[in-house]
Formats: sequence, C-alpha cells, structure tokens
Amino acid sequence: MNNSKTTIPCALAKDLMPLYQENLLSDQSNELIEAHLKTCADCQKNFHNAQVDNIEKEHETLPLLKVSRKLKLKRRILATAIAMTVCFAAVMAFYAMTKIQYVPYEEGKIKVYKGEDGVFQLDYYGSASVSISSGTRYDKGRNYYVTLYDAKPSELLNTLSTFGSGDKNENVYYAYPGKEAVLMHGQGTEENIILLPRITTNYYMIIMLVVSVFLFFLLFFLRRNKKFKRWLTALIPLPLCYFLVSLLVRVLTGPSFGWEIQRECITILLAGGFAYIASLLWLWYFDRFNLQARS
Ligand SMILES: [Zn+2]
Repeated sequence: MNNSKTTIPCALAKDLMPLYQENLLSDQSNELIEAHLKTCADCQKNFHNAQVDNIEKEHETLPLLKVSRKLKLKRRILATAIAMTVCFAAVMAFYAMTKIQYVPYEEGKIKVYKGEDGVFQLDYYGSASVSISSGTRYDKGRNYYVTLYDAKPSELLNTLSTFGSGDKNENVYYAYPGKEAVLMHGQGTEENIILLPRITTNYYMIIMLVVSVFLFFLLFFLRRNKKFKRWLTALIPLPLCYFLVSLLVRVLTGPSFGWEIQRECITILLAGGFAYIASLLWLWYFDRFNLQARS
C-alpha cells in the first residue's frame, strides 16, 4: 500500500522494523520508517503486535531472573553453612585427638602410702602432671581420687604431693573419667566407683547461659516486633554457642594444666566462632528459603 509520500517500499520497512524498535537506526532512517508507518496499515499492525510481544517477554523474564538469583543465593548460603559446620567439627576433632592423655594405672609405678603424721604421700616414677580431688565425704569417711596426665609441661614426679586430713577412714583411688576406679589405699567403699567426665562450669559459662536464657525470654515477649525478633534471633546463638562449645571442650578433656588452658581457650573461641556463623547461616537458610517455599 504505497502512496506518493512513502519513499521506501514495504519490504524494506519490514526488514528495518526490528532495528527501528531497538532504536538502532539513524534519524533519517527513523523518519522514513515513521513516514511509512503513517501510510501503511499493514506495517502499523505488525509494529503494534511486535511491541505487545516485547512487553510480554519482559514481564516473563523478570521474575525468572529473580528466581534464578534467589536460587544462586540459596545455594551459596547452604554451601557456606556446610563449610562453617565442617570447620567447627574439624576444630573439635583436632582438639579431641590431641587432648591430654590420662596415664593408665600401673601397679608398682604409682604408689600411695600414709606417713607417720597421718598424711598421704604419692610416688610416681615418671613424668606427669597430677590431679588430686579434695576428699569427698561418704558415710564412713573420705575418698580421694588421684589422676595422672601426660600434660605438657609435665614435671618428673618422684615423691609427689602430700594430701589427706589424717582421718582414719580414708580411701585413695586412682581414677579417670569413665573407668572403674582402682583402690590404692584404705578399706574402700562397698560399691565400685566410676568417675563421670568433668562437666564443671566456670563463671563465663554460667554468665553466657544466663544471657542466653534472658534473650530467649526477651524474644518470647517481643516476638511480635519484627525488628527486635530479627536482632534477637541473630544474637541468641552467640552466648549459646560459647556455652555449648565450652561444655563440649570440658567434657572432652580432664583438668587443664599449663598450655592446655590456653589450648582450651583458643579451641573454645575458634570452634565457638565457627559454630556461631554456621548457626546464623542455617537460621537464615531455613527461615528465608524453606519456610517461604512451604507457605
Ligand atoms: Zn508497509
């Protein structure tokens, strides 16, 4: 449908149309196309249809892009959470494998006898650190638990610490957590004694536990305030991780000596840090992706 004003043929207009729509033509060419569109109903119709198609395409691709970006983020968070958990486990495994060792009981090598003053004396022919519990009372007297460790720096123990109160009914056991204690001196109690692992807590741990419980209560009362809820959920794992990792480290080892104390602190901070980052990522992962996907 060419008329006098049209300077380009229909076929050429159709060929140039995609470039025109992308705004890639020169001004002169643009004018020519526009002039042709004004006069050619056929091309006008094609032009209109093409524009509608383009708009629809954009609407379709935007959410797809968003979904793929979200999937990428989800995968990245999951990977980091797993990596942090592995780091935590590696620190704990290393600590457990290199922990101080108990010196096993050997008859003749570890000796306890009562001196004339009624006080016990411990002899050990070797190099070790020693831990002696302050006498635990039972119905007839007192029990003392002796444990030797190869903790560094350990000293050559020959005639070792004296202990005891001089009471008549006193028993001395060689003991380490989880194993039946060996009676070294005294009549002994009727039942076999097995010491539990050291689950002693210290002030820092108790403070952290109290802070965690307090934050949980705060979270319960402020759960309707979204901003507070988000902050508290991110904060609670910090004291909780410190408490739980400290407890785990203490259960894994006996009493601390010398460098073991520093090693214990470094392990708690390192493993606790990894555990905190991991728990934040897991919380984020489950809160943002899995719960959203279900609802
Ligand atoms: Zn035309």
